[in-house]
Amino acid sequence: MGLENLIRDGGFMTTQLQRVVNWSRRSSVWPMPFATACCGIELMATASSRYDLARFGAEVMRFSPRQADLLIVAGRVSIKMMPVLQRIYEQMTEPKWVVSMGACASTGGLFDAYATVQGVDQFLPVDVYVPGCPPRPETLIEGIMAIQRVIDADGIRMDQGKREPLNIVVEPNYDVKDQPVELSVGNT
Ligand code: SF4
Repeated sequence: MGLENLIRDGGFMTTQLQRVVNWSRRSSVWPMPFATACCGIELMATASSRYDLARFGAEVMRFSPRQADLLIVAGRVSIKMMPVLQRIYEQMTEPKWVVSMGACASTGGLFDAYATVQGVDQFLPVDVYVPGCPPRPETLIEGIMAIQRVIDADGIRMDQGKREPLNIVVEPNYDVKDQPVELSVGNT
């Protein structure tokens, strides 16, 4: 961050403990991926070198819920799977957040069937809804950064010891943007 150049020769800086806690907490959000379908592929792409979720400190996917604080539900969830998903959520460390990624996780998507959960928010406190079928990696990153902004601003709301869901909806963006990395094929 360049701080080393500003603070030399035994210099020091002061801040508030809560600010340091928020800064470190938002810089180390560890996701627990619950990917059941095609959205999971976009989730994987988000951690790849092209989109590089590591830039925001959130690339350390944990497959043990006790080491994770961000549950990303990517794909449709069946009624049979829901108790498993709830148990995973319960085992995660507080404070913890939930991202519902894609139309299927948020609404059941095109699977309007009795065996498919028509929105995981019926059973879990969803913080961020990421739209799309599937959402692009940039949209997921925007959802994660929305949570980071709340953490950074010390905006974690608690109600009787339980955290209230943030209820953030990422707006879909249909603008075609430049690709983040210039690619060329062959020698051209
Ligand atoms: S929202 Fe679309 S891409 Fe995602 S799991 Fe459902 S069908 Fe697949």
